[in-house]
Amino acid sequence: MILECSHCGAPLDVGGRSPFTRCNYCGRTSRTSACKTQHRVTPQGWAPPQQWLPPPQFTVHVIQPLPYKKASGAIGCIIFVSVMLPLIIAGAAGFAIWAAAPRASVPDAPAGDDDEAEAEPAWDGTSTLRCSAGDRLQVSGVTMKAALPEVIVAESNCVLEITDSELRGDVIITMSGTARVTIRRGEIVAGRTVAKASSSSKLEVDGAKITLGAKNADGVVGIEVTSSVDVTVSGASVTVAARDPSKAVLVDATSRGRVRLVDGTYAGEFTIKADGSSEVRREGPPVEARLEVRSAAKVSGFKERHKAKPQKGAPARPGAPGDPLAPAFGPQPSKGPGCGCAPSDLACNMKCSAGKK
Ligand SMILES: [Zn+2]
Repeated sequence: MILECSHCGAPLDVGGRSPFTRCNYCGRTSRTSACKTQHRVTPQGWAPPQQWLPPPQFTVHVIQPLPYKKASGAIGCIIFVSVMLPLIIAGAAGFAIWAAAPRASVPDAPAGDDDEAEAEPAWDGTSTLRCSAGDRLQVSGVTMKAALPEVIVAESNCVLEITDSELRGDVIITMSGTARVTIRRGEIVAGRTVAKASSSSKLEVDGAKITLGAKNADGVVGIEVTSSVDVTVSGASVTVAARDPSKAVLVDATSRGRVRLVDGTYAGEFTIKADGSSEVRREGPPVEARLEVRSAAKVSGFKERHKAKPQKGAPARPGAPGDPLAPAFGPQPSKGPGCGCAPSDLACNMKCSAGKK
């Protein structure tokens, strides 16, 4: 029978009668009942691979493939048949020896150790998490201590769910194919980009705290979507910063990309860009943003922030909103009695407001 090691995914040829199976590659001991069965009957001519590189969804992360080590789970079975049976026949004296023997031969077998190993997160945050075809991964409670250039790469029909984790990196998620990623709660600290998604991938971020960019960051584009990508960010507390805040982009949607920003709070200055037949929708209290909407794109639910670029040499229109001199010319509710200046008497008004200070 071929079992799959529950720690590294390696195929293990075992008799299947021992309650514990030790892996020939990673050396971990798993409860036999917890191992997936790859083949009920060991196929004819089956030989163990000489080395094994654990796929990313397993708990063992290595740079080099693990070499095959003999002394396998099958030994447990051999011990059972060759040692235990005669001992049972030998009676009570034999039992005492047998009681000590299995512990020595399978040192990693205690059930407590096995339980701990099963609770270990599938990914520890020290390297890029790659999720690809057919992978269904769940990550929870991971705290990344150091930022990575790329935190998550999700491809083809990967399904990834991350809960209560702290993700740090320059680009947090790169998605393609029909990958589906869900992030619940936790914190995201993105140097430049939270998500870059293409071709029908789907991302849901729910209730996370998101810090996008920094005071010295350039090229900040929070969510970049194209094709038929669907992104929903709900109940997030988002803060955006950049070296030049007028260049920070929160959403850049093209083609048929769709982004929904539901509830939550948004702080900082940023642009929402939409092109092609994309759609960016804010649901909840309006959020202030610079809007760049082109062709058939739709953007709704935002309050437009006007580009406050002071144009050098352009004469300021007196009384125009934002004109620093406006208070002196317009209605003067702040002035107490006694000034009595005519609205056009600049010198009087200036003197009066100086005296008020
Ligand atoms: Zn293993």
